[in-house]
Order: sequence, then structure tokens, then C-alpha cells
Amino acid sequence: MGIALIVDVESDWGRDSLRGVHEALPRLVALLERFGARATFFVVGELAGEVAETLSGGPHEVGSHGLTHRALDRVTRDEARFELVESRRRLEAAGFAVEGFRAPFLRRPAGLSAMLSEAGYAYDASLGALGPSLSNPATLRGGVLPFNLTWLRLLDPLGARLVPREARAFSLHLHELVAGDAGWRDLPAPLRRLHGRGAGARAWSLVGHVVSAFGPRLVPCREVPWSATSSSAPARRA
Ligand SMILES: [Zn+2]
Repeated sequence: MGIALIVDVESDWGRDSLRGVHEALPRLVALLERFGARATFFVVGELAGEVAETLSGGPHEVGSHGLTHRALDRVTRDEARFELVESRRRLEAAGFAVEGFRAPFLRRPAGLSAMLSEAGYAYDASLGALGPSLSNPATLRGGVLPFNLTWLRLLDPLGARLVPREARAFSLHLHELVAGDAGWRDLPAPLRRLHGRGAGARAWSLVGHVVSAFGPRLVPCREVPWSATSSSAPARRA
């Protein structure tokens, strides 16, 4: 079975800068091409124009990561609906056929699945197998932590050794690949420094390790069966 490769495309760590989009995206696309890997890029709708040139023409999939990257459980229902509809509209206007959605911060308000179907989405990549659970092969080897770049960075230098042999999904943010002012903006300074640990060169090395290890088994979300919106899997947070 393929392993869903998920890349979240948004501004850098909740700031205004777009170094992840401008610097890391073209380099990541080249790395994936070299190893025959493909991904789903979940793009914030406001940035549709920023990614159009690099991602149009495939072989990757583009999905929506909201319109503004606001948490959907912190806005009104009408605002949430607008985020879903307008982000899809803008991404499609930029030339992408959008089937999938991934909630910012993986925060899912009640009724999101119904809103997604109404807005024309086929699946929700914030559901199901992406979160930690004991029996879930999307976790790091032997553990409860999700298999994503954040945990590989935070556990470095152990991280690369914890890459599981089998997995269902691997996720990263473009901004993790950019050195400098890293770490989520809203965190207190010491936590922010911890959260930004290993961003830049070390993150590239870890992603290179994963991409070379799995190669063509890394596929867009729409090619893995667990991701349909009809899934009854419980919502998870990360
Ligand atoms: Zn995000």
C-alpha cells in the first residue's frame, strides 16, 4: 500500500514571510522527482498564485489547507464554510483539481465532514490514520508519536532511526525546511525554540532520508484508501 505524503503549504510559522513557499518548495519538488515520490500539497487558498507555477502540470496533488489558515473551530460556521468554498475556488482557478482538505492545526469543528461534502471535497486528510495511536502504522517505530517531520526533528539525532519500516502517512510543513526564525509564533519563547529545533539543514537531511527510503511508495492522499470523507474514524488533534 502507498504511503500518503502530506505537505502543508502556508506562511512561515504563522508569520507573514513565505520563505518555505519560495525557497523550500522548488527544492522539495526536485527531491521528490529524483526519487520518484509524489505528494499532496495542502495549500492555503490565499497562496494559490504563489504555488501555481511550481506545482501545475503534476505529478503531485493539490488540496486545500483552508483559505487563511485560521483554526476552523474558532470561527463562525459561515466563516468556516467560506474558508472551504473560497479556498477550493481559488485553487481551482489556479488550475488544480481539488479533492482533498486538511484542517489547519488539524482542528475540526463539529459537522466539518458534512460541510466538506457540500463544498465538493472528496476526502479529509485531517481524519483517521494521521494521528497517534498504539496500533497505528503512521507512528514512529515502536511508539505513540506521529510519523512526521516535526517529531523527527525534535527527537534528532534519534529521529532517523525511528523511521518505521511500514507507514501509512508522513507529513511535513514547508517552513520546517527553512533555517532561521523557526518555531510557532504563538508559543512562549523557550517552547518556540524547542519547536523550531532542527529546522533548515537538519530537516532537509531527515526528509531526504524518508524520501530516499520510501521512494515511489510515497503517493498523494487520493491514492490511499483510508482518506475518504465517509470514514467514521474519530477526529484527532495534533
Ligand atoms: Zn497548517
